[in-house]
Amino acid sequence: MSTQENAPPRGLQIAIDGPAASGKGTVARAVAAALGYTYVDTGTLYRAVAFQAARAGIDLEDEVALSRLAAELPVRLHWDGVRLAVLLDEQDVSSAIRAESVGQGASKVATLPGVRQALLDLQQRLGQAGGVVMDGRDIGSVVMPDAELKIYLDASLEERAQRRLLELQRRGIEATFEQLCREVAARDAQDSGRAVAPLRVLPDSWRLDTTGMNPEQVLQAVLEEARTRGAQELV
Ligand code: C5P
Repeated sequence: MSTQENAPPRGLQIAIDGPAASGKGTVARAVAAALGYTYVDTGTLYRAVAFQAARAGIDLEDEVALSRLAAELPVRLHWDGVRLAVLLDEQDVSSAIRAESVGQGASKVATLPGVRQALLDLQQRLGQAGGVVMDGRDIGSVVMPDAELKIYLDASLEERAQRRLLELQRRGIEATFEQLCREVAARDAQDSGRAVAPLRVLPDSWRLDTTGMNPEQVLQAVLEEARTRGAQELV
């Protein structure tokens, strides 16, 4: 038998970019689970930097200190096929980093080129073997520019704020629709307007507007597109 026959199937690189609360994480997790791929949520890395900076009392504008912190970040992502655990110093911070304040801090540190560069190596290593679904803002443009499938996942601002509201209510966190509209719009402006690696639709993006679609419909649409690009379930 040739070594090629013995080689495990590599699997595609699937990049999912899109604005805040567009449902990237939900669909990325479901696609990874359906195909037996690894899931990497790159937003957790920026969140971990902001979280660690707050713990260490580092100002969110101190690029030198934040870049060093990002380069030495003791972070580990563990995907078990269902759930992604984010470990900082081996402590599970998966829930703590979901706070909206951490998201805002992440969006701030993500404007700093030194921080982005420090996190790039790690993300590229996590994606290089393929068989991966990675979501973020610059995955198709910077982290995995050769990805076989680059998805730009979108939804109207109102729908995204509404989805975020339901998610927070489920977790027992109070918020209003108006407040979330403002927060999501502010994050969009920061992520799309920044100089380095802004969120944008690429010429080779496959754009999916999920307004009015439920998660199952989004999953099926993405799986169909992935299969037309050659994705097969890994065993
Ligand atoms: O996706 P999530 O909301 O968890 O990301 C938090 C923040 O991290 C985003 O608002 C964005 O500013 C930043 N980010 C980024 N590039 C990525 C992933 C996230 O700039 N690839």
